[in-house]
Formats: sequence, structure tokens, C-alpha cells
Amino acid sequence: MLKQNTEYKTGKVWLAGAGPGDEGLLTLKTAELMETADVIVYDALISPEILSRIPTEKETIYVGKHSGNHPVPQEEINQILVQEAKKGKSVLRLKGGDPFVFGRGGEELELLLKEEIPFEVVPGITSSVAVPAYAGIPVTHRDYTSSFHVITGHARKDGKLSIDFDSLVKLNGTLVFLMSVASMEKILQGLLDAGMDPETPAAVLERGTTAKQRRVTATVRTLKEKSDQAGIGTPAIIVVGKVCALAEELHWAEDRILGGRRFLLTRPRQNISSLAGRLRSLGAQVIEMPAIRTEPVSPNPILEKALERFQEREGEKWLVFTSPVGVSVFFEQLVEMKMDLRNLFGGAGRIKAAAIGSATAAALAGHGIFADLVPQTYNAGNLGKELAEKAAAGSHILIARAEQGSEELLPPLTGAGFTVEDIPLYRTVCEVNPLLKDQIREMLENGEIDGVTFTSGSTVRGFTQAMGEMDLSNVSAVCIGEQTAREAEKYGMRIEIAREASMDAMVEKLAELYSNV
Ligand code: SAH
Repeated sequence: MLKQNTEYKTGKVWLAGAGPGDEGLLTLKTAELMETADVIVYDALISPEILSRIPTEKETIYVGKHSGNHPVPQEEINQILVQEAKKGKSVLRLKGGDPFVFGRGGEELELLLKEEIPFEVVPGITSSVAVPAYAGIPVTHRDYTSSFHVITGHARKDGKLSIDFDSLVKLNGTLVFLMSVASMEKILQGLLDAGMDPETPAAVLERGTTAKQRRVTATVRTLKEKSDQAGIGTPAIIVVGKVCALAEELHWAEDRILGGRRFLLTRPRQNISSLAGRLRSLGAQVIEMPAIRTEPVSPNPILEKALERFQEREGEKWLVFTSPVGVSVFFEQLVEMKMDLRNLFGGAGRIKAAAIGSATAAALAGHGIFADLVPQTYNAGNLGKELAEKAAAGSHILIARAEQGSEELLPPLTGAGFTVEDIPLYRTVCEVNPLLKDQIREMLENGEIDGVTFTSGSTVRGFTQAMGEMDLSNVSAVCIGEQTAREAEKYGMRIEIAREASMDAMVEKLAELYSNV
């Protein structure tokens, strides 16, 4: 039993596994801790899609590599955990796979125990089982093997492996070697020298469970050569045993409609998930860029004054919304400034509502307002044009939308002689975890992100601002509409445009461009 230390408000450490990469393989417990912990201490094997789930305001400490690419010594990591817990924080120590499978988790707990800091262990899905599974290799199978063994291929300081090959070969089970790419030749030779049949099936599996997973299957005799030809790098595992031959038939991950595809989604954090979920269900790896957060302009005296004037106006009046977020921020702000809906709608004249698209109209309907106008094609220019045609002469128009909203909306309205007030309700703010940003930049530069989705001009600006100076000409921008595309084009991206401005059409476009079938 751990004693609670009374000298300081003791924090607590959760030593948790984040699984091998696919975000869906996070346990519910770890996912919840990522939301609730005060600080997250994580290392290099955490995948970008998992990193992107960390709330932007959360404190994080990266202990993968020091600048200059030196690994952070284990003792230093142990100290960090102790220090943070001693500040009274709940600390999530996040590790790849399972924390006790070659994760040095045990070592990290020893110091906590000594310092009397309470801890919990949250097992994770280990790469040693999940990576073969995603390659179509069951680690056991009644017809071929009755055991599997997980072995480290990490060499000692003198370059030698401490593996008892004779015993391993006798076991006749499936052998899974972690940290084994560098020592592949020695491992395979060790098995052959101990009498293993050179024709035994073997596989090397790189970046398993991610969109970019690769599999090379061969035999113990030929694996090294084939792996070199394919240029297999880390992280990867080697699997040896008859079950490897099953991959030829049981492979599945890359066969999904969007299997092997990786997308970066830039959308306001608040409503990103429906698109992400649907792309994931089609097999894509989705990195949600948490950069683009909407921040209400609050307090908002400009809105307050404008609404007061609006109430007094005679004749036809229009409230115009250009995004679901705009709708929710608008109603939040009414509450904040204690403006009673009866006053707003009960003033002189009648208020009509226009929404740029179906999602915005649905958000309005959620507040009991059914839009009088939704343009045929969902974009700001069309909204302006159709409203100019529909609104009575002399109408008063109040547009409630993002700062720096699309310029195309205004000219048709002012041109028609309406009084137009364009009120900024919220702004988009960019904050990306620096490691995630580096990973995203690297993936973009290496062409490892198939498409980046944009659902408004402000997401384009947020993205480019967050990424900093870089060549974006290789980026394939999948845009919700013409105007968003024009914005992406300004930064040199290649553009694709959805059939209409809806999440359905975005999914359709991505499937059309990137489907495997
Ligand atoms: N605790 C981790 C293993 C840490 S050792 C676990 O349970 O999975 C690091 C090794 O794990 C890597 O060298 C590689 O062999 C393996 N590994 C981790 N993630 C992997 C992945 N996505 N694909 C292939 N190998 C992986």
C-alpha cells in the first residue's frame, strides 16, 4: 500500500499505453486521461493522430528526443514524472504500445514507489500483436502454432544480441522481434544457425496500424534481402513462423475503401468529428488539426449596438449566418448580453433569416428558426446574390459571422442598396503542439498526407499560419466550395472542390479521389 505523503499535495502518475498508432486502438481509459490529466509526458512513438487529440491548452512535455536528436535519458524522464507529481498534478505518462512491453515502464515506477507517489498502470494494445493483426497475421493459429513469443532485437552495448536462439527454435512458436530492424541479419542468421528451416515464413512489418503500414513477407532465408529492397525502416517488427504465410490471404487493412490514405482535417475543433468519423470508418487515417479553434469576440459591444439598431429598424430585416459555429456563438452572445429573443424579434418590422448552407440552416433550426433563404449553391457569393434578389427593396441586413469573412458576400448586397452591417462574432485562432506541427510539416513534405480538407477560407488561413513558411505546392487541398478553393490557391496548393458544400459531398469527393476500389 502506498502512503499518502503529507508534506506536499501529492499528485499521481498514470503510466499508460497509447497503442501502436491507429487512434482507434487507444483504450477508453487512456483517451479519457488525455482529457483529464494536468500534464502529459509523451515520447516519440505516439502517432500524430493521437497527438492531435490532446486538447491544445493542455500542458505537455516531450521526452522523445532532446534537440540535437539525443534520446532523453531514462533517469531524466523518471525525475520529470516525480517533479510534476510533486507539484500536485495528475500526470499522464503516455507510451507507445503497452507500457510494460519493452517500454521501460517498470523502471519508471520504481522511482515513483521510492518517492511514495501514487500511480496506476493502464495497459495498451501492444504492437507485437496489433501490428501482425493489421497485416493479416494471427500470432497464433491452431493449425500452425500454439504459442507466440515477444523478443527484443535490441543489441547490447557490445553489439551482441542476448537471445537464446536454440531455445527459441525448439519452441516452434511464432516469434515476434521488436526493435529489430538494425539487427535483422543477426537475428535471421541466429535462427538458421540454431537449425531453423530456412524456408520458414517470415515477415517484416513497418509502421503497422497506420495508413502508411508496409509488409514484406518472405522466408527466414530471403527476408533480409527483400526488406532491404523495399527499404524498410523503423519502427518495424519481424515476425517468424508459419502464420506469416496467412497474410497473403488475410490482409485487409489496405483493402478498405480509403485504406492506406492519410488525411489532415482542418476544421474548427467544435464540429470536426462527423467528417473524421466517416473517413475513419472507410479505413482512412485522419489527423485532426486542432490548430483552428474558434474564439468568440467577447464581450462584443459592436454586436450589441448593431442589434439594438436592428430592433428599431422598420421594414424587412434579414439576419444572415454563414456557418454553424456562427449560429451557436450568436445565440451564446445573446444570452451573455441578456438580450431577450422577444425583444429582438418583437421589434419593428419582421426579421427573416438566411443561411449559407444546410448545416447552418440546421443549426438555426436547432434554435427554432427556419431559414427563409438557403442559396442553391452554398457559397458566400451566391448567398449575397440570391439574398439581393429575394430581399425587399430597402431591407436591413445584419451579417453575423467570422472576422475576415469572405469578401464576396457584401458587394451584391450593398450594390442593391440595402443597409448592411457585417458584424464579427468570432475569430479563428491557431495553436499547434510544436511536435505535431513538425510531424505534419514532414509528412506534407514527404507527400505522406494524401489530402488536406478545408471547409472555409478561415481554415485555409489558419492552416497556413500554423504551418509557417513552407512550400505548399504539393499539398492537395480538398475544399468545400469555390471560395475556399480560391483561398487555398493563393498559397499555391493544388485544389479539388466538393460537389456542394456539405460533409456528405466532402466524403464523396475524397472517396472519388482516393478510393482503392
Ligand atoms: N511498448 C511498445 C514497444 C516499445 S519498443 C509496444 O508494446 O508496442 C519499440 C518497438 O516497438 C519498435 O522498435 C518496433 O519494433 C515496435 N513498434 C512499435 N510501434 C510499431 C508500429 N506501429 N509498427 C511496427 N513496429 C512498431
